[in-house]
Amino acid sequence: MEMILCKLGEVVLKGLNRRSFEDKLLSNLRRRVSRCGAFRVYSKQSTVYVEPADENCDLDAAFDACRRVFGVVAVSRATPCDKDVDAIVETAKTCLRAELSAAASFKVESKRADKTFPLTSIQLSQQVGGALHQAFPGCAVDVHDPALTVFLEIRDDAAFVHGPAVPGAGGLPLGMGGAAVTLLSGGIDSPVSSWMMAKRGAALEPVHFFSPPYTSEAAKDKVLALARALAPWCGRMRLQIVPFTEIQEEIRRRCPEDFFTLVMRRFMMRIAQRIADETGAKAIVTGECLGQVASQTMEALRVTEDAAELPVLRPLIGMDKEEIVRLSRKIGTFDTSILPYEDCCTVFTPRHPKTKPRLDEVRDAEAVLDADALVQRAMDGREFVRVKP
Ligand code: ATP
Ligand code: MG
Repeated sequence: MEMILCKLGEVVLKGLNRRSFEDKLLSNLRRRVSRCGAFRVYSKQSTVYVEPADENCDLDAAFDACRRVFGVVAVSRATPCDKDVDAIVETAKTCLRAELSAAASFKVESKRADKTFPLTSIQLSQQVGGALHQAFPGCAVDVHDPALTVFLEIRDDAAFVHGPAVPGAGGLPLGMGGAAVTLLSGGIDSPVSSWMMAKRGAALEPVHFFSPPYTSEAAKDKVLALARALAPWCGRMRLQIVPFTEIQEEIRRRCPEDFFTLVMRRFMMRIAQRIADETGAKAIVTGECLGQVASQTMEALRVTEDAAELPVLRPLIGMDKEEIVRLSRKIGTFDTSILPYEDCCTVFTPRHPKTKPRLDEVRDAEAVLDADALVQRAMDGREFVRVKP
């Protein structure tokens, strides 16, 4: 039966830790493909084999799932056939017809796990290569820099012909980088920043602040849709939705207007810190980017993160909007992100926000508020939503 091959990336560089990285990757892959049927998932020499256990498996869906598992750099399909040259040539002709017709050059690379096979790897590559060149004369043999490589593998049970590999998600297995609270708004940036940290192995605890009636039910649904769009990459998550209206109204009533946004962002940090304490997360992730808005200058970022103890990670800090948009399209969150709903950040925005705030003046501005009580009530009013791939 046809099966899927996943090539491991940085996992193989992990030296003594390799075993734990590989085990994590295998269990992540198993969980993801289990939705597509019964599969055997095992690794051999930097490759993970995802093999259907019966006829009811949805291989296309499993292939798509594998492409979104962090730690996998390339994914391909392998078609089995009898262990003889003619059968191998026929299989390659059929399943790689499009590729062999289109490529200017190719080579065949063989691996022989079954040492009783009568030909050496080199002999097999030469014979199959010769026959394929006859069948596709437009595709030259080039063993040094081929446009297409046809992989053959002779195993105990069958021979396998590999299709061309497509890029995987890259990165490191989810969960190997600890857990992080990620602040998820409805914008373009924060789904991308969340994805980037998940790619480096961080398990995510997404948190969203909402301010009814200033922000609508539709805005909340949008964030849920974004979390769902992230789930095929980031796995199961529990989105925490934090009521933020009281905090925002208090700030508007009692703090100087120029500091509204900064004080509000400090409250987001305090609450993120509390949630991290609860869940054991070791960092806070935001979609902030240097210079993008008034609250994202160096001075403003410093004032914001002062309210949290944990490191605040900002993977987008040095990216241009265009680069962020490109990633957002790639991961599948862009179309949802651009739906026109309000965010709590866009209610009560000051006319003249401070771009070079001083920490002491912001602390003074918020000193009139009972921060602990406000944070506690927001924590108590949380709603939890489970999100699955
Ligand atoms: P985004 O496109 O992610 O909304 P942005 O450029 O609009 O970002 P801000 O609105 O200033 O920037 O927000 C900066 C960061 O603060 C966001 O990337 C996100 O991590 C966090 N954030 C903003 N609003 C919310 C919210 N309502 N709930 C949770 N996090 C938020
Ligand atoms: Mg925003």
